[in-house]
Amino acid sequence: MGMEMDNKALRNTIIIDAKGSAGLLDEPDKSLDKAAKCLRNGGLVAFPTETVYGLGADGLNPEASKKIYAAKGRPSDNPLIVHIADMEALEKLAYTNEKAYTLAHAFWPGPLTIILPKRDVVPKETTGGLDTVAIRMPSHPAALELIRLSGVYVAAPSANISGRPSPTTAAHVIEDMSGRIDYIIDGGPVGIGIESTIVDLSGEVPAILRPGFITKRMLEDMIGEVVIDPAIADPKESVLKGLKPKAPGMKYTHYAPKGELTLVEKGSDNVTGGEPVIDKIRELAKEKMESGYKVGIMAPQETVSLYEGYADYVVCVGERKEQATIAAGLYSALRSFDDAGAEYIYAESFRGEGLSYAIMNRLLKAAGQRVIYV
Ligand code: AMP
Ligand code: MG
Repeated sequence: MGMEMDNKALRNTIIIDAKGSAGLLDEPDKSLDKAAKCLRNGGLVAFPTETVYGLGADGLNPEASKKIYAAKGRPSDNPLIVHIADMEALEKLAYTNEKAYTLAHAFWPGPLTIILPKRDVVPKETTGGLDTVAIRMPSHPAALELIRLSGVYVAAPSANISGRPSPTTAAHVIEDMSGRIDYIIDGGPVGIGIESTIVDLSGEVPAILRPGFITKRMLEDMIGEVVIDPAIADPKESVLKGLKPKAPGMKYTHYAPKGELTLVEKGSDNVTGGEPVIDKIRELAKEKMESGYKVGIMAPQETVSLYEGYADYVVCVGERKEQATIAAGLYSALRSFDDAGAEYIYAESFRGEGLSYAIMNRLLKAAGQRVIYV
């Protein structure tokens, strides 16, 4: 397992403005030509997708894939998702089955990653040594255009330094990747804001390895029974039992700000927010401030103003009643605590079904599973 940073190879990173390309699929975007050529020649290109920004390389070129690990400081056993722009690619990369086609037709292009047994053309460097490969067709026009123009299958994890929150704007990518990669395509802020749902179709029963915008219910409506990897369904319990998540990436610390993040939620039911939570967060924050620490608070629109004056830095993450705005704002909010120099951070939690389930999965990881119940 290697974690080396490619510091020697500092290079000039070129930024391409492709904000106008969204929605203009029938007019090929000339500005992407150079970046596409760079991918074809084994280079590294960060690009927008509808979920988060990805860091792309030719997924069938082992040397190119290895550069992704070096640029991100990513452990080499953490496999990459291969991004495709047409259905035929699925058959070329993997041994498919009926459920894979049902899901691909239902949700592609879109925020769903499918895991299948890999064909020999896919190198182990791309799959972190596994015999399976993760495949997704993104819906962002600039991503599709780039993949098509490059003529390669684009292996791409999120375009952040390993462990940091995933990038949802080009500015986040520049912050982490400038000088380490060849191109950054700026497509403006992404739409969804959290990574794709990962569903493993290589075993008996389809299993969700990472929750996301495409929910368990949505998958079950298409293919029947779907389970959630037990190691992610109950992370604390799984540590005690020694269960390992089936997606290698889910075992690493992720999304964490530099300060220590703690979630505060109501212990008795699934309803989060409310007065006891607010009182507790105010109390915890005030205590740390009085001890001389820099303190941050993250809360939704509905309650954020109630924390003014109780921390050095208070950030609104979105609207609780509009889950999608929480997903879209989450990583930006987490990153902003680093800029603010926050040493302790307190946040309301977002327990719930559907997209909330995916949001909480990320938030709990960012908090190292630290939750205080009131
Ligand atoms: P990222 O795109 O940075 O969010 O990382 C890709 C995620 O997909 C990581 O959590 C990987 O562990 C997971 N992944 C990719 N390929 C596989 C695979 N073949 N089996 C299980 N998980 C995978
Ligand atoms: Mg990632």
